[in-house]
Formats: sequence, C-alpha cells, structure tokens
Amino acid sequence: MRLLGILPFARELLTRAVYHGDIVVDGTAGNGHDTLFLANLVGEHGKVYSFDIQTTAIDATRKRLSDHQVLDRVELIHDGHENIDKHFLPDHAQQVAGAIFNLGYFPGGDKEIVTTAETTISAIQQLLHSLKKEGILVLVVYHGHPEGQKERDELLPFVQSLPQEQYHVLQYGFTNQRNNPPFIIAIEKR
Ligand code: SAM
Repeated sequence: MRLLGILPFARELLTRAVYHGDIVVDGTAGNGHDTLFLANLVGEHGKVYSFDIQTTAIDATRKRLSDHQVLDRVELIHDGHENIDKHFLPDHAQQVAGAIFNLGYFPGGDKEIVTTAETTISAIQQLLHSLKKEGILVLVVYHGHPEGQKERDELLPFVQSLPQEQYHVLQYGFTNQRNNPPFIIAIEKR
C-alpha cells in the first residue's frame, strides 16, 4: 500500500512540525511509543511533556524511555491532560511545536479507563493557546467503543468550528474500512 496508514501518517505530520530542541506534548503516554518517538524527534536539547492518569502507563513509558536512554528529556506527568497548563514551565507555554493524543484505552489494560470528550476538548483548548505558529496537534480518534463514539461526536463539531483564519484542520482516514477504523484529526496553527 502506498497510502500512509493512520499511525505512520500521524508520525509524518509530527516529523514535519518538530525539530531538535523543540517543546512537544504527548497527551496520552500509554505504553510510551509516541513519547519515545517524540523524544527522538526533539533530541537532547528538546523537551517532551508526557501525561497519563494510570500508574501502569507512566511506569511502562518510563521503562521504555530509560531503555532507549532518552528519559532525561521527558517530563513524565501522572495527571490528566486536562491539567496541561499547570505543568508547563512558564517559558514553554506558547512554544509547543507538536503534540499527539492517541485517544481511547491503554492497550492490554482496563478498557473502562478511556479518554473522554470533556477532558480531551479541555486539553485541546489549552494546547491551542500554547502551539507556536505552524505547530501541529494530532489526535488519533478510536471510535470502535461506545465512549469513543461519544468522544468523536463531540470532538468533530468542536474542531470544525475552529476559525479558519487561525487554524488549518484536517481529517484523515480510510472511509471504506469496516468496524469504525481509527482516524486522524490534525490542527495546525496558522
Ligand atoms: N500513546 C500511547 C502509546 O504510544 O502507547 C497509547 C495511548 S492509549 C491509546 C490511551 C491512554 O490515555 C491510556 O493509557 C489512558 O490511561 C490515557 N488517558 C485516559 N484519560 C486520560 C487523561 N484525562 N489524561 C491523560 N491520559 C489519559
């Protein structure tokens, strides 16, 4: 297949927006794959803020980062992404080059603990203020479970209402796949 799948496309967008030394955010650390990817993108002089509400996710991410010797550039935050603004260093607010939120539940964990529209939208609102020009926020939306469908139904009208003078908003997904395949929403600050 020549078309980029959902996760490769998410990474392609981040690769276009993020450079060595940048400030970035992983809103949902989970097993730490995205945090590790971001840690490599920003290099030793950059900074990743990585959030998760579950201890197991924070521990798994810490181990992955440590195994790859990039833990030093990551601030692992055991808190909800809806509290994102509380955790930024003052000179990092408004300087975010890229962010990813891989929504849904912890793979292999408790499927009852999921991201929700209310907290996701709150985090997006805070992050939009902190994105720098041409910074990109990537959301991977999983809507194969009931809470994911509610989240999708609130997220889409929210992002569609963002003023086009200030943001480019993109939706990317495979429209002929069965069983509600994940899709991407990407927001670029103009
Ligand atoms: N990015 C991860 C990776 O690379 O492995 C996968 C993330 S997983 C699909 C979603 C994660 O979101 C779960 O670990 C869950 O605990 C976390 N989560 C749910 N609600 C959250 C919230 N309000 N703030 C931060 N993380 C949250």
